[in-house]
Amino acid sequence: MQKASLTILGCGSALPTRKNTPSCQILELRGKQYMIDCGEGSQIRMRQMNFKASRLGHIFISHLHGDHCFGLIGLISSFGMLGRTAELHLHAQPDLEKLLRPQLEYFCEGMSYEVVFHSIDPYKHQLIFEDRSVSVYSIPLKHRVACCGFLFEEKARDRNIRRDMIDFYNIPIWQIPAIKKGSDFQTESGEIIPNQNLTTAPIPPKRYAYCSDTAYHEKIIPYVQGVDCLYHEATFSGAEALRAQSTKHSTARQAAEIARKAQVGKLIIGHLSARYSDQNLIWKEAKEVFENTLLASDMTSYEL
Ligand SMILES: [Zn+2]
Ligand SMILES: [Zn+2]
Repeated sequence: MQKASLTILGCGSALPTRKNTPSCQILELRGKQYMIDCGEGSQIRMRQMNFKASRLGHIFISHLHGDHCFGLIGLISSFGMLGRTAELHLHAQPDLEKLLRPQLEYFCEGMSYEVVFHSIDPYKHQLIFEDRSVSVYSIPLKHRVACCGFLFEEKARDRNIRRDMIDFYNIPIWQIPAIKKGSDFQTESGEIIPNQNLTTAPIPPKRYAYCSDTAYHEKIIPYVQGVDCLYHEATFSGAEALRAQSTKHSTARQAAEIARKAQVGKLIIGHLSARYSDQNLIWKEAKEVFENTLLASDMTSYEL
């Protein structure tokens, strides 16, 4: 079974620290990797964690603040040096293309692969991408500039066929794909064997939501309701609640409030301000509201 995992490459906020680089993460579902945000230093973190450039096809950018996109041009250029030929797809607000296109023309002329831009409307909750494994939806957030989070929904897996039933009913191999999709089986004598006798339920599809950067915003709750894992920014502690409000960020407690109200499986808090030498303070505040809270850490993987 291919694992569903999230690797945080960077969980800092605007200023990098010795411990945290700006936002970047890689979500892995069914053997495919999707990058979310690409702050400065993302390609270095990828190398440190042995992620292969060739396995990454899609990058989703939440908004056009530097700590979420300054890593793109370096990463794109390095992928070219590595001889990449497959297209790289960027999903972002249209202004990203305006900003990045001149840099690509200047620094990446004659590159061996294409960068393809896909436009997102950050003010709408809508399907922005899908492939065989996953559907990705935008989640409008409340920030100083247009900003959206992302909801990744794994598509339903096929049912698991029972080996003993294949042998017992002598099921021909060509009928197995249909049975895995839910069909019944008819024996040579005409007896109908219901699907539930032949298969077991697959593991439920995983759902992951990424919400950074945002002020406390209850409108996101229906979009992230019941997800297996929610990553929500917690830039500040409660002591900086006014600053959080004026910069349109969240406190740890507010992130946990969203997790509690949306009844998520687990909460990972990140986008941590450089001002806290002891991040456990932030973590404790969130845990008081939502027990299953994890404090994000650079270069750490989490199973969904
Ligand atoms: Zn940020
Ligand atoms: Zn921002």
